Amino acid sequence: MSERLERGLGVLRAEMDKKVMSFFSSCVRCGVCAESCLFYTETNDPRYTPIYKTEPMRKLWMNEYSFWGKLKSALGISESLTEADLADWEELVYDGCSMCGRCSMVCPLGVDISMVIFKVKHALAVAGFSPEGLVGATQRAVDIGSPMGITMTTVNAMIKHVEEDTGLKIPMDVEGAEYMALLSSNEIALYPEYLESLAKIFDHAGISWTLSSDAFEATNSGLQIGNKKIAGQLVQRVVDGAEKLKVKTVISPECGHAYTALRWEGPNFIGKAYPFRVVHILELLDELTTKGILKTTGIETDRLTFHDPCSIVRRGGIQSQPRNLLAPITENFVEMTDHGSMNWCCGGGGGVSSNERAEALKLTVFNRKKSQIEELEVDAVVTACSNCRMVMEDGLESNELDIPVLGLTEMIAEHLAPKTAG
Ligand code: SF4
Ligand code: SF4
Repeated sequence: MSERLERGLGVLRAEMDKKVMSFFSSCVRCGVCAESCLFYTETNDPRYTPIYKTEPMRKLWMNEYSFWGKLKSALGISESLTEADLADWEELVYDGCSMCGRCSMVCPLGVDISMVIFKVKHALAVAGFSPEGLVGATQRAVDIGSPMGITMTTVNAMIKHVEEDTGLKIPMDVEGAEYMALLSSNEIALYPEYLESLAKIFDHAGISWTLSSDAFEATNSGLQIGNKKIAGQLVQRVVDGAEKLKVKTVISPECGHAYTALRWEGPNFIGKAYPFRVVHILELLDELTTKGILKTTGIETDRLTFHDPCSIVRRGGIQSQPRNLLAPITENFVEMTDHGSMNWCCGGGGGVSSNERAEALKLTVFNRKKSQIEELEVDAVVTACSNCRMVMEDGLESNELDIPVLGLTEMIAEHLAPKTAG
């Protein structure tokens, strides 16, 4: 047996807990999960059926943990998991799954399919079966601190521009600040208006906040590639930064997987609870608005809709907050079909958008989101994840649709009431 196969098998065996075993013994192969997955619905390729993506782990369970499998193994007639199996599933798991979690919502037997897919991804990552683009991004995240290779020099340049544009100081490494904000790579490279919006909003609300030069990056490539050890290292970097500055709350930016990594998986990755609170920026904005600390003014007359980022709504339960924030500043807001917890993914989550090999497939599966947007005849789409924003902008452009995609934090910043309004 090759060393990499042994590594992969080692992970699959370690991850084979009672929950996973009960899932495999419960699955009746009804195929209901297929219709929930945009990689299946937009390609009609049965290989993209969610439960099929777990096949390496199911095969191992069948051979080593089920009664019939053990009997077959004893008789020497079982089909062992091979290195070729791992190589074959690399494309299905990395290119053909955005880890959106929609399949886990529909299984009548309660199989948490996406959770098992993540375990398979973890095994593939440890065995060295991961796409080149993601491997490079993860290496840069470990070595440089950012998957795009962004350093403090770039961050400082962005800060300088934001300070010039807003006339506001961007606080850096302020010990004892109440809030520590993080930025995703996309927000640094593509959407600096996010930082500009934070500066305006926090100035309006009179909030003490800071960035950390040790931990400005929110993107967690370890989660995207499926390597729990690296995911933990990247979470620990944020924890160390927050502890050093003694902040009370860390703000996850408009980035779906960063929120999942830090808010929900982080304590498991590092094996301990945080000494601070983690909130998504939308949770904070809603909280400040409810307390009357944040006041907005003006109304958007354009016809707008909201794209729920999977990690934020389905994994994080942040469904009412964006609607609470949008309601007072829109008069022509329409919901997508299947909005909220049953939203359809943009197609680029789970590292798909960082995986060049998956580009064509990503654009194919974007057809689902395109149809949802087109049928509403909206002037613009609002969202709260910079990755979704980038994927939707690319998808709409490649379909020659001139529909802008806006960040919700930025919209709120544009509608801040004058400070004198009380
Ligand atoms: S919906 Fe559930 S029971 Fe049906 S095939 Fe998928 S995982 Fe198995
Ligand atoms: S997590 Fe989403 S993309 Fe992945 S198999 Fe399930 S429904 Fe499909």
